[in-house]
Amino acid sequence: MRARSLGVVAPLLAGGALHALPALAARGPLRSLRPSLAGRGRPGGVALTFDDGPDAAGTPAVLAALDALGWQATFFLLGRQVRRHPDVARAVVAAGHEVGLHGDVHANHLVRSPRWVRRDLAAGCAAVTAVTEVRPRWFRPPYGVLSAGSLHAAAALGLTPVLWTAWGRDWEAGPPAAVLATVCRSLDDGGTVLLHDSDCTSRAGSWRSTVAALPLLAGELDRRGLAVRRLGDHLGAG
Ligand SMILES: [Zn+2]
Repeated sequence: MRARSLGVVAPLLAGGALHALPALAARGPLRSLRPSLAGRGRPGGVALTFDDGPDAAGTPAVLAALDALGWQATFFLLGRQVRRHPDVARAVVAAGHEVGLHGDVHANHLVRSPRWVRRDLAAGCAAVTAVTEVRPRWFRPPYGVLSAGSLHAAAALGLTPVLWTAWGRDWEAGPPAAVLATVCRSLDDGGTVLLHDSDCTSRAGSWRSTVAALPLLAGELDRRGLAVRRLGDHLGAG
């Protein structure tokens, strides 16, 4: 039943804006219910997250940039990408980063049945666990769209949903300064930043903007005295 699958979150998405939920989660009714859903963690820093990987070119470039900055982050992996690039997925974990699940494929859960979503998350979780030997604990749905089916499927797998409070719209492959400016519009102490280490769902080579924006973000965070953390460290559940 479609209406049932949409659940309580669906009314928040009225208007058709797929990306509305994170903003609502950060500022709207969901925030008071569970701030950690938006990735709101301890003060003194931000969690840095990357979606859509692993990617054969983008992920190694992001890993190198993170290493140069001394940062550790959380990567929300797609099962399909993990099967394509298992060595890259393992390199993420070997570098000390945290892995979460983004799904097996990159689909909007609002137009899929609860059964489909359950199978997708189970397949993605199995792929990430088998390849990296780490069972993910965090889940971020594609497009930030959570259906009741997403929530049930995540709970059944022991995954905790986490969205974000600031993004860089780096998938648009704009100038790095524009990525930084977009992040800074919502960047605040205790928030979670969303970027992408893969262009598998966006403009080819968009990860180059992401990589070039990271040192700029470092300057901004230094200026504000904010550290960079993995989600497990940020949300105090690690
Ligand atoms: Zn995504």
